[in-house]
Amino acid sequence: MAANILVVEDEPAILALIAANLKRAGHITLAAVDAESAQQQVKLALPDLILLDWMLPGMSGVELARRLRAEERTRMVPIIMLTARGDEHDKVLGLEVGADDYVTKPFSPRELLARIKAVLRRRAPQVTEDIAEIGGLRLDPVTHRITVNDQPVSLGPTEFRLLHFLMTHAERVHSRSQLLDQVWGDHVFVEERTVDVHIRRLRAALEATGRDSLIQTVRGSGYRISAVPVATV
Ligand code: CA
Repeated sequence: MAANILVVEDEPAILALIAANLKRAGHITLAAVDAESAQQQVKLALPDLILLDWMLPGMSGVELARRLRAEERTRMVPIIMLTARGDEHDKVLGLEVGADDYVTKPFSPRELLARIKAVLRRRAPQVTEDIAEIGGLRLDPVTHRITVNDQPVSLGPTEFRLLHFLMTHAERVHSRSQLLDQVWGDHVFVEERTVDVHIRRLRAALEATGRDSLIQTVRGSGYRISAVPVATV
């Protein structure tokens, strides 16, 4: 599973150690040495996860976490706090500002990678390699294969990403702008209509397997994937 992970850490040795381990696990490391430059990087592109040191020169990691959670665009980015502090009060504060997990230094690389995996699985399943399944439809992110009862479904790259995102966030309704952010990237300027075009292509590709009805339009809201049929009035 290749995730873009922003590491905000002012100690070069720790940053290098984390970067080497992330690379070995197949992730891409983006580095920032303080909260201010992390904010600049986040403005350019949303990472899949942020490893955020608590004690930073200038703005603290906790303050940065608070700001990221307060902003609509960055509200959902998974955050793991890194800290030398181990006491319960700090842990509670870190989680209160919205961190998803908390790793105390010194940590073993294996522990850190396990925490990253767990948080991604919980908060950003579309970047994991877990097989997604709904209503007989099966998507394997590793082989890029989609099947219904072993019958293959062929999709273009955008439809694949769109389906993967919907399947890993099943039952939830996503607005067109949310889908654009999540599937196309949050700084890609395309019209919301583009989503409709790709939903149409996705349904067309699924039609032969009878699974096109899994992709549901929620009027005035957006789209969702669901194995529960839409009530017909
Ligand atoms: Ca530090």
